[in-house]
Amino acid sequence: MRPEILYPFFADTISLPGVGGRIATLLEKIIGRRVLDLFWHLPVDIIDRSASPALTDITYDQIVTVEVTIDDHDIPPRGSKRPYRVWCHDDTGKLQLIFFHVKGDYIQRQLPEGELRLISGRVEVYNSQLQMTHPDYMLLPEQRGQIPGVEPVYPLTAGISGKVMAKIVRGALDRLVDLPEWQDAPLLKREGWPSWIEAMKNAHQPESPADLLAASLARTRLAYDEFLANQLALEIMRRQNQKKKGRSLIAKGPLKQQLLDNLPYQLTGAQVRSGAEIEQDLAQPFAMMRLLQGDVGSGKTVVALLAMLVAVGNGVQAAMIAPTEILARQHYAGLCQMTTGMEVRVAILTGRDKGKARALLLDDLQAGKIDILVGTHALFQKDVHYHDLGFAVIDEQHRFGVEQRMALSAKGRPGTTMDVLAMTATPIPRTLTLTAYGDMDVSQLTEKPPGRKAIDTRVVPLNRLDDVVQGIRRAVDAGTRAFWICPLVEESEVLDLAAAEERFRHLEQIFGPRVGLVHGKMKAKEKDAVMDHFVRGEISVLVATTVVEVGVDVPEASIMVIEHAERFGLSQLHQLRGRVGRGMEKSTCLLLYGALKGEAAKARLKIMRETDDGFLIAEEDLRLRGAGELLGTRQSGMPDFRVASIEEHGPLIAMARDDARLILEKDPDLNSDRGRALRVLLYLFERDEGVKYLTSG
Ligand code: ADP
Ligand code: MG
Repeated sequence: MRPEILYPFFADTISLPGVGGRIATLLEKIIGRRVLDLFWHLPVDIIDRSASPALTDITYDQIVTVEVTIDDHDIPPRGSKRPYRVWCHDDTGKLQLIFFHVKGDYIQRQLPEGELRLISGRVEVYNSQLQMTHPDYMLLPEQRGQIPGVEPVYPLTAGISGKVMAKIVRGALDRLVDLPEWQDAPLLKREGWPSWIEAMKNAHQPESPADLLAASLARTRLAYDEFLANQLALEIMRRQNQKKKGRSLIAKGPLKQQLLDNLPYQLTGAQVRSGAEIEQDLAQPFAMMRLLQGDVGSGKTVVALLAMLVAVGNGVQAAMIAPTEILARQHYAGLCQMTTGMEVRVAILTGRDKGKARALLLDDLQAGKIDILVGTHALFQKDVHYHDLGFAVIDEQHRFGVEQRMALSAKGRPGTTMDVLAMTATPIPRTLTLTAYGDMDVSQLTEKPPGRKAIDTRVVPLNRLDDVVQGIRRAVDAGTRAFWICPLVEESEVLDLAAAEERFRHLEQIFGPRVGLVHGKMKAKEKDAVMDHFVRGEISVLVATTVVEVGVDVPEASIMVIEHAERFGLSQLHQLRGRVGRGMEKSTCLLLYGALKGEAAKARLKIMRETDDGFLIAEEDLRLRGAGELLGTRQSGMPDFRVASIEEHGPLIAMARDDARLILEKDPDLNSDRGRALRVLLYLFERDEGVKYLTSG
């Protein structure tokens, strides 16, 4: 249960002064729905209004606060586009105030001729005249106190002005309350860190540019809080996993050799190594929690199968869960093929299986007539009972929440924890492994199966679309298959879909019935049907939204077109490109770009052209996103941090990990005073999944 003290933080922003339905909706899009989300929305700049030069001394554009006498008003005639101008002066020079779209006599009332006014805003020097467009403040000289010396500047959301945003965040900060200190007093003292509430206030009220730096004391403290919450949560889960006994599954019997004999290839060194690491874990009497990390096409499936066969050889059932129906079917087909002629019964269960067939399958499962069950979330539905499930493989593990992992574990033998092998195709930069997978051991497939040809990657402007289509047409006529991925439009599925449908209709005019379309809104059955047509070659061009991102294997496809590639994150581009280059043919990836706004977008496409190394790409992705790009975080499965920055605060992660271990060793259920404060921390950063496993004293 969330501590009461945090309730106000989790209230909707609409409860804040000045936030109505329209603004709340705008905020939700970019920042979030709750007051708490505004806490983490930190200023990126400051406006310093303390400069009060004489007008004659102003020689460059700057923000000033000046006291001037108001002179003439130059009022434009009704309907004119000309701005409204007001002249004013001090003892040394003149200044022109400029207003657009003035309605009524507002300016006359604000700036009566002959009176003194305090004006603050950005002065521009134009033709050696001073101009200020729409001053930020126009006050009486005695109201100087109303102008803050330094104002925070927040990252903006379309439709909300800087002034309004600052006011909204101020409103949110009024809800701040002091929280019990969760950090160790000696640590705070050593680092010179302020308390949480002070850190929040300082971070939002920067007084100099130095206060905006990630290295400022306030931001560093907040970052450490966040890493500590992250590491504590992971450590709680890890301890939870270790608490329960696992079972020792020892590799034996003929299955492994039979599989190796079945394979049309030799395992790579990395596959052999990872397989051995997994076997070793399985043999231990504790539960395994291992991550198998390997780029797309690195051959994770066969490693998973080797591990599942260890379970089967011990008379124990294994399950393999995939995030989508398509992937589950593909795994099923792959496993069936690899186990041809072996005494291993493989079955599949997804949301699509219903009625009698499903009932029969569940009976077989419970009777132990199925050795390996592949499927989607359906594998841990309530009425699915295993005979003796002892091992689970989770493919694309970042698509599953902790809850789901737990639900699957609950299907194991009571009193023991199941061995789990998680797999991901998302290479994670080394710095991130601790924060993302601190609760797991990691095996890596760093080497690809031999014989893969490099993918020829080209960056092409969208205005050459017609040439691209013609090129694909020639290739398709020669028997090639192509993926055509449609752009990501602002995280909106509806718009994604519209764009994909439009491209589909366009390509249909050229390719006729040889074009298919798949998108996330389709029913699983329809999606599979289209995929099937593509796999069998009845369709040559598959237009898709990013649903094909993970796992789908069509070796005959050798062209990947990604439209508006500049809108995708690096890791995602890499994943998509990995869909081709799986067959014998030489493959091509065409990155079509629209407008290349910003250096980061250019840099991303350049890296794609230059390298095919997933780990390198992940490092670069991180570096570029550090430069303010946030594309693709969702998809990449990297943990989201609200204040902490992996690049800037990275060294704190290991410190937080050690701290978390020490804390839980001394106070495993977080019941001491500090422990209770740490529970608040976990809720504050929404890393509270594990709290329910703690016993409260
Ligand atoms: P991943 O799931 O890691 O993306 P897969 O397990 O789907 O990769 O394997 C990709 C392809 O590589 C499959 O067609 C598989 O048969 C093949 N493959 C796997 N291991 C090897 C190997 N050692 N040598 C040659 N081909 C391999
Ligand atoms: Mg795979």
